[in-house]
Amino acid sequence: MMVFENLLDINEKVKSACLKVNRNQNEIKIIAVTKNVSIERTEEAMNAGIQHLGENRDEAFLHKWEAFKDKPTWHFIGTLQTRKVKMIIDKVDYIHSLDRASLAKEINIRTKRKIKCFVQVNVSGEESKHGISPSETSSFIQQLKEFDNIVVVGLMTMAPFTNDERVLRQCFKTMKLLQEQVQELGLEHAPCNELSMGMSNDYSIAIEEGATFIRIGTALVGN
Ligand SMILES: *Cc1c(COP(=O)(O)O)cnc(C)c1O
Repeated sequence: MMVFENLLDINEKVKSACLKVNRNQNEIKIIAVTKNVSIERTEEAMNAGIQHLGENRDEAFLHKWEAFKDKPTWHFIGTLQTRKVKMIIDKVDYIHSLDRASLAKEINIRTKRKIKCFVQVNVSGEESKHGISPSETSSFIQQLKEFDNIVVVGLMTMAPFTNDERVLRQCFKTMKLLQEQVQELGLEHAPCNELSMGMSNDYSIAIEEGATFIRIGTALVGN
């Protein structure tokens, strides 16, 4: 399938999810996750109208960045090793995987500009997943105040690997509640207006529960 055909289909589904819960469709930004596809396929996505690109490994990210420079908006969505921060920090627009103070510290010293970060939350508690536990999310975010270059724009999660709609929905609902908790703190460094959640298999549910960025690989560009 061509990317533009997939995108038409996804846009329809985004629209109906929005209608269902009375949300405005332009609150939802689609990140094309291009980690498993070529430069050519990525370019096809951009020609189809995609503005946001997501990569999860530093090398692949740098390779794609060389091809497109600052034309797209870049999202780093994978686990970020502290020693790799300096290689990517001045090329990314958003980091979705902030999950420890040592990483925040490194980001903070390696750049002179404000970096938009999502704090990654491990809602399901699966050991294989990275992220802060829900109960520690607020206090972790409060701690980040000391790092002048970190702005917590929102929370990010990867839902458990299941087709059980109730489990997925519960995960996204927990994220929405956590977001509200953080917003109530009124922290200048953490407006937390965004929720990065929803992938190929679960983005409709994520949108119904409040996602503002959905990260789509397989269903959009394939793998
Ligand atoms: C690969 C990946 C995605 C996209 O997954 P699909 O199921 O292919 O849509 C989204 N988020 C993260 C963090 C990923 O690593």
